[in-house]
Amino acid sequence: MSRESTLGASREQTLGVLGSGQLGRMFVQAAQAMGFKAVVLDPEAQTEGVLSPAAQVSDGFLNALFTDTVALQSLATQCFAVTTEFENVPAQALAYLAQATPNVHVSPKASAVRIAQDRVLEKAHFASCGVTTAPYCVIEAKADIARVPADFYPAILKTARMGYDGKGQVTVNKVAELQAAWDGLSRTVCVLEKRLSLASECSVLLARSKDGATIHWPVQRNVHVNGILATTEVACPADTVEALRDKALHESLIAAAKSIATGLDYVGVLCIEFFILADGSWVVNEMAPRPHNSGHVTMNGSSMSQFEAQVRVAAGLPVVEPRQHSSCVMLNLLGDVWFDGEQSALPREPDWARVLALGSGAVGVHLHLYGKSDARRGRKMGHINITAQKLETAWQTATSIQQLLR
Ligand code: ADP
Ligand code: MG
Repeated sequence: MSRESTLGASREQTLGVLGSGQLGRMFVQAAQAMGFKAVVLDPEAQTEGVLSPAAQVSDGFLNALFTDTVALQSLATQCFAVTTEFENVPAQALAYLAQATPNVHVSPKASAVRIAQDRVLEKAHFASCGVTTAPYCVIEAKADIARVPADFYPAILKTARMGYDGKGQVTVNKVAELQAAWDGLSRTVCVLEKRLSLASECSVLLARSKDGATIHWPVQRNVHVNGILATTEVACPADTVEALRDKALHESLIAAAKSIATGLDYVGVLCIEFFILADGSWVVNEMAPRPHNSGHVTMNGSSMSQFEAQVRVAAGLPVVEPRQHSSCVMLNLLGDVWFDGEQSALPREPDWARVLALGSGAVGVHLHLYGKSDARRGRKMGHINITAQKLETAWQTATSIQQLLR
């Protein structure tokens, strides 16, 4: 099934995106705001009559496997540039487009996506850039388990591929648990990471164009609950107390992120996650070769959103240094807030009117919903950005919103 509704749009005005979740939706909206048409390709663009978040707003969609070369050819006929919103789009789809349809600009490159999709290759890349990771070992055979030193526990076993939002991860405290956990993950290739005591988590979002020009946004601080991002905060330069607080740390994270991107000859929007340890030292965690949940703060706190940057890179337009005009707190909206308490079984719409009334004057409250009709606990349904000059002010309103939604 596909919707052939790009009629009248020339190929030179149309962008394609592989994947059609919320990141694709926000990419499409940014593309359309700049006058482009957008077509998405996803095997779940339409499922049992329900359109995916991006297919709801796109000018056209292709309901096909990412590896369907006929569909990829069709996408290439309709679009002059193609990007991806989904980390696990097979790298071979990007490679196919780049080789078989050379008149399409493909970003990011298959080679970079292939590395980001595999924790083993990803960690090797970080090491090759001189950026330290948590201590880890690769578990791909039974013998690897016996070789794990006793002082390595507690540790986290993570599947090398296809993990997200804490899925495909198990904490293990001893060798017997590791054995059971690896069996539970069907003995697929995994990395075992030492579980570190984290003081905080940060991410650096950057965009790099084809000619290597690289811009970044200010370092974001993230809080995860049960492996899923819950909140992100970022301070603007006018909030001098906050902006100066971790200046040296932030500069070192940005330098590391840039060297990781340069090492990949990356083209597109890239987000790198870091763990900050109690003594102020840090390690790199992982990277996402696409806009990132933590980067949603750029939608209201910055002069350029991560999605606009992705459009600019894809379309070969200039990517310029963004200005962080506001401090911003982002609250992720999981399906849980659609349920009235732990016991309730029937979802209901949260009281957005009361939430939105909390933003006025110096504080902005910006609601973003992804068009998912089926609220489920743990499912990302939307986010709220709260902007103010001072991060502290934004947090006061954010806390009120959290209480209201609880
Ligand atoms: P995902 O691909 O699901 O985002 P991550 O590797 O980023 O996987 O892990 C999700 C979260 O789990 C992290 O943001 C962090 O809060 C926690 N975590 C992951 N690895 C470690 C570790 N080695 N030590 C401590 N916490 C960790
Ligand atoms: Mg992560």
